[in-house]
Amino acid sequence: METSVQKKIWLSSPHMGGTEQNYVQEAFETNWIAPLGPNVSGFERDIETFVGNDVHVACLSSGTGALHLALELLGVGADDEVLCQSFTFAASANPITYLGAKPIFIDSETDTWNISPELLEKAIKERIKLGKKPKAIIAVHLYGMPYMINEVMDISKIYDIPVIEDSAEALGSRYQGVNCGSFGDLAILSFNGNKIITTSGGGALLCKDADTKDKAVFLATQARDNAPHYQHSHIGYNYRMSNVLAGIGRGQMEVLPERVAARRRNYFFYKENLNNTQGIELLEEPSGFYSNRWLTTILTPSFEMREKIRLALGDENIESRPLWKPMHLQPVFEDAVSYTNGVSEDLFNRGLCLPSGSNLELEDLTRITNIINNLLK
Ligand SMILES: *Cc1c(COP(=O)(O)O)cnc(C)c1O
Repeated sequence: METSVQKKIWLSSPHMGGTEQNYVQEAFETNWIAPLGPNVSGFERDIETFVGNDVHVACLSSGTGALHLALELLGVGADDEVLCQSFTFAASANPITYLGAKPIFIDSETDTWNISPELLEKAIKERIKLGKKPKAIIAVHLYGMPYMINEVMDISKIYDIPVIEDSAEALGSRYQGVNCGSFGDLAILSFNGNKIITTSGGGALLCKDADTKDKAVFLATQARDNAPHYQHSHIGYNYRMSNVLAGIGRGQMEVLPERVAARRRNYFFYKENLNNTQGIELLEEPSGFYSNRWLTTILTPSFEMREKIRLALGDENIESRPLWKPMHLQPVFEDAVSYTNGVSEDLFNRGLCLPSGSNLELEDLTRITNIINNLLK
């Protein structure tokens, strides 16, 4: 047993590229400290260029705020129903309730761990029969793995229900060569501290046209009418991104491809070094899917084994975390309707997120896999 405290290894820590401070410095020198300015428009252009597919980007104060605006732009209101992937972080679902609407949770399939197209269609048919056609679908590329894009888009078209693509964890992921963030009617990104790139806190809404982006920016800046005085005919929000933080984002965009490559290297290291470990499974990319591998996740044979590994890593000052607890199992959503198949509950019980930062070193990764391999030997 080691007695000396070893270097802390985090699950996913910020990783600056080096040029961020130049953009921040410029914001200070020009006194553009406001929630708009050249870094905000520059960061938006950088994201538009990276994601491609003619998306129009509005940078906001968080991914959660972006989801809130997306729902509002789709006309979601009190007592409406919104279909939402159950296996996700609570921020995917919370904004539904901000509008007085109700989430209907949909369980996952086993190939990508994301929203099950089968259950999604079943839920839509049933809700329509009950006289309550859902207003939107929130689908999530969890841990960076794209959801079943074709199937979800087909269902969206057949039933004419728009998709909000939660790409908070999937900047740099692709499906058939096309970047995540460009598939949904609206999409969101997050630049929170633990995401693949960060502005310390921030998010973005990705729109299909300039008009929708303008509406989003209008709502995000207190819905001010065009008048010399402050006049309002809508309820607005204070959701715009600060020009200082957008400067960090501009620097981070310069190194995004390297960050994706580093996270994918982590995944392949774990795969190579844990694959022969009894009972440990890693999620593979189905053909045509390209994950940014935001977090590398493992499936263990049992809850007990998962806990054993998590605690052993913790003893060695290494942070790991169980997979997201599905929303249909959360106390706060116990009254919500859900369509389940047991998949996400099983993943939650047996799964673990391993340290996945782009700043991990080979010796960190070796330390982690050695602990797991010794435990399961
Ligand atoms: C991080 C995250 C969000 C929320 O983004 P914030 O910027 O933290 O508000 C939404 N959905 C998912 C899946 C996330 O991981």
